Amino acid sequence: MQFSELGLGPEVLQAISEVGYTTPTPIQEKAIPWVLQGRDVLGCAQTGTGKTASFTLPMIEILAQGRARARMPRSLILEPTRELAAQVADNFEIYGKYHKLNMALLIGGESFGDQVKKLERGVDVLIATPGRMIDLFERGNILLSDIKILVIDEADRMLDMGFIPDIERIVGLLPKLRQTLFFSATMPPEIRRLADQFLMNPREITVAPPASPAATVTQALAVAYDEDKRKVLRHLLQTEDVKNAFIFCNRKKDVGILHQSLSRHGFNAGALHGDMVQSKRTETLEAFKQGSIDLLVCSDVAARGIDIKGVSHVFNFDVPFNAEDYVHRIGRTGRAGLTGRAFTIAAPEDGRLVQAIEKLIGREIPRVLIDGLETPELEFEESGRGRRRPRRKDEGRKEEGRKSEPRSARPPRSRAADRTEAGDSAAATPVPEERAARPERSERSVRARPERTDRPVQDRPERPVREDRPREDRRSRFADRGEDRRRRRDEDDDRTPVIGFGDDVPAFILRAARPVRPAALPDSDAEG
Ligand code: AMP
Repeated sequence: MQFSELGLGPEVLQAISEVGYTTPTPIQEKAIPWVLQGRDVLGCAQTGTGKTASFTLPMIEILAQGRARARMPRSLILEPTRELAAQVADNFEIYGKYHKLNMALLIGGESFGDQVKKLERGVDVLIATPGRMIDLFERGNILLSDIKILVIDEADRMLDMGFIPDIERIVGLLPKLRQTLFFSATMPPEIRRLADQFLMNPREITVAPPASPAATVTQALAVAYDEDKRKVLRHLLQTEDVKNAFIFCNRKKDVGILHQSLSRHGFNAGALHGDMVQSKRTETLEAFKQGSIDLLVCSDVAARGIDIKGVSHVFNFDVPFNAEDYVHRIGRTGRAGLTGRAFTIAAPEDGRLVQAIEKLIGREIPRVLIDGLETPELEFEESGRGRRRPRRKDEGRKEEGRKSEPRSARPPRSRAADRTEAGDSAAATPVPEERAARPERSERSVRARPERTDRPVQDRPERPVREDRPREDRRSRFADRGEDRRRRRDEDDDRTPVIGFGDDVPAFILRAARPVRPAALPDSDAEG
């Protein structure tokens, strides 16, 4: 099928051909004609499928008719993160270059003044994160009564980040008569309920099985003691042909620590997480896109939708708490048909998280061994948390000692490690044949100061031993989704409110109450 068969006008077709797209992707093929007819769409699609163009292209066409009035936007696109919102705005500019549509981007961390000025002039397309949208509405800067098209993008991410109450509130402020386009990578029951609530007779479009990692990404998993994880990462960065890479951590503070550590070891790295000021976030992302930073240590704020072509690697320095996040993280590589490699570094206590990921993706992630490091077993019981590498007799001789140690003297390898495709080979490589065929490391190495390769690990900023960490922290890996959501909101949003007792709910409130039945009433009346 050709773009010209979808019902798009000549200006949009011209813009598409200038971008270089030749054929529509499956979601574009299915969604665009329906959106042009004014129908609601429920799209189950991952980022990387071309879903942004599937709603921006027909929106440009529809909005080309009519004009916006001051403070009364005509369409609203809600995105979970500032980066995604900015990316959608870029798309609008590219595809809408032959139209005179006004667009405003309302995201946290940027001046209210400029955003309000734009709204005053009248905007056709408003792209916003939920928090900033509500702030501006409450200040009386926006009237939502003229919204004709609503897009809710990355709905499952919104759920993870705790944005659903905000979304429900915003949708309650919109006209009932409108067109709604709702996209989510996965469709858990909570998302399905929202879709039922917001959409009217939608066309349901599923373009890829939810949560299937890109077939172009080669995956591998290394198991290491917590205190060895940075060494494993450095080893991988040195032995893999890394052009550029996202390195994901679960916690913002660990992003900072790892970034410092990599910089000290001579790697050209930047950091990105939700606590940074927006100008720094934008600057760092731009530097990574332009190639002036090779490694981007980041939180899950960068896991979804960030579209940077040609990223060679993704490293999960921590196994993500939610299995779906694994799929999103590794989807930052292997984009647009290119190949990519994704390595996950798991601590022994991450067994259950790894299990959940493997269940979700329907296969085992091949294990790799790291030369000179012990490979502990993955543990599947909560009690195993925080286990440190057992002390050996030669403790203190540190790395040199370990490296020269004969393999037979080391503790036996784990069963998991035995499954590695690399067998006994020392390299941390999931597909050795492929490696052998690859050229030598590219000239543009990610390492700036190779002479520091063997720098001992003593200079690592020490984290407290896990046993010493606060109880809530130890509990959190196995926390329920609700708790996860609160943490994720904190991850990406600076406005984390404390609701009720916050996390300090007294135990008696959590205890289930026995139903009280009035003794005097017969059973049938008590039902009412
Ligand atoms: P998205 O899923 O919207 O994040 O899009 C992923 C990537 O696919 C973006 O880099 C788009 O520029 C690109 N893309 C979107 N539509 C097409 C198309 N029809 N042909 C080729 N690339 C496309």
